[in-house]
Amino acid sequence: MKAARVHEPGKIVIEDVPVPALGENDVLIQVHHAGICGTDVGVYHGYVPAKLPVTLGHEFSGTIANLGSPGLGGFKEGDPVTAPGGWSCGSCEHCQKGKPQYCRDRNALGRTVDGCMAEFVRMDYRVVYRLPSHVPLDEGQNFLNIACVVRGVKKVPSQLCKKVVVFGAGNMGLIMLQILKAAGASQVIMVDAIPFRLEMARKLGASHVVNVMEGDSVQKIRDVFPKGADVVVEATGSPSAFQNACDVLKEGGALVIIGIYGKKIKELDLSFLYNKEPVIYGSKGGEEGYEEALQLLDDKKLQITPMITHRFPLEETAKGFGVFEDKDANALRILIEPSA
Ligand SMILES: [Zn+2]
Ligand SMILES: [Zn+2]
Repeated sequence: MKAARVHEPGKIVIEDVPVPALGENDVLIQVHHAGICGTDVGVYHGYVPAKLPVTLGHEFSGTIANLGSPGLGGFKEGDPVTAPGGWSCGSCEHCQKGKPQYCRDRNALGRTVDGCMAEFVRMDYRVVYRLPSHVPLDEGQNFLNIACVVRGVKKVPSQLCKKVVVFGAGNMGLIMLQILKAAGASQVIMVDAIPFRLEMARKLGASHVVNVMEGDSVQKIRDVFPKGADVVVEATGSPSAFQNACDVLKEGGALVIIGIYGKKIKELDLSFLYNKEPVIYGSKGGEEGYEEALQLLDDKKLQITPMITHRFPLEETAKGFGVFEDKDANALRILIEPSA
C-alpha cells in the first residue's frame, strides 16, 4: 500500500509499504479522510518527538477493511468508523488509574506507530468508534478534535460559560465556538490574525471577531466585555496570546488552555493570579469526550464540512503540508484523501 512517510525531518516521501499485520485485538481501516494537524507538522519538521521512519497522520475517518479476529467489537467490513489518535498501553500507573491521557507508553499514530496518511491504518478495536450511518466520513474525520474540545469545555462549570473569548480561530477554535454556542454561551468573541478565519467565525456564530494584527486587541475585547470575560479559551499556543488571555479574563473567571506551547514565554505579568483568582484548566487530548463527540455529530449540532478548505490525494501530502503552513492560503481544515 502507499503511505506518506517521514524518514528524516523536513521531507515527506510517498512509498510502498506492506499492509499492516493485525494482532488479535486489531482492526484494519481503509482511510478515506485524514486531517493535517499541527502535531503532524511538528513530526514533519522534527520538533515533535517521533520514532522515525513513521507514517504521518492521527486524525481520520474510514471504513473497516479487516478484523484481527472474527467478530471483533461487532465490527464488519465496510462499517464507517473513526478513532482517537492512538491507544494507551493499559498497564502503566496512569492507565491503571484511568488516566490514559498521561500513558507513558502510548501508541500514538503518526509518532510512535504508523499513522493514517496511508491507504490503511491499524488500530486497537477498543478505541474504534462506529459512525452513525447518516454522518458523512467528511465530518467523522474531525472526531478527535471535537472530543478534545468537549473535554476542555466540560472542565468549566457550565453556568460560567456566558461571555467567552476564544484565542485562535483555526479548526479547533471554530469547533470550540460551535460547542460553546450549543452549550449556552451568550456571546463568543473570536480572536485570530487571519481575516479568512475570522470571516468563517462570523458565519459559524461568533458575536464579535478581533484581528490581532489591527490595533490593540485587548482593548477591543474590553470594549465588548468591559468587566472582562467569564471564560477565556487559549487555542493558539502562542505566548503573546497567553498574556492577552490573562488580561481579558474577569475576576473569578476560568482560563482553558488547549493550545500547545512550542516556545517559552519570556515575560508574563502574573499579577492577575492574585487579583482575579482565576481557575486555570489545562486540557490534553479527547479522553472522556469521545461519546459526546459522537453524539454531537449524530445530532448534526456542528458544521464541520464548511471548514474543509483543501483536499489532496495521498500522493500530494507534501503539498497539503505546504498549504497548512502558508498563512496566505486561506486554509482551515486540510484533508489528505488516500481512497479518493
Ligand atoms: Zn491532532
Ligand atoms: Zn499506559
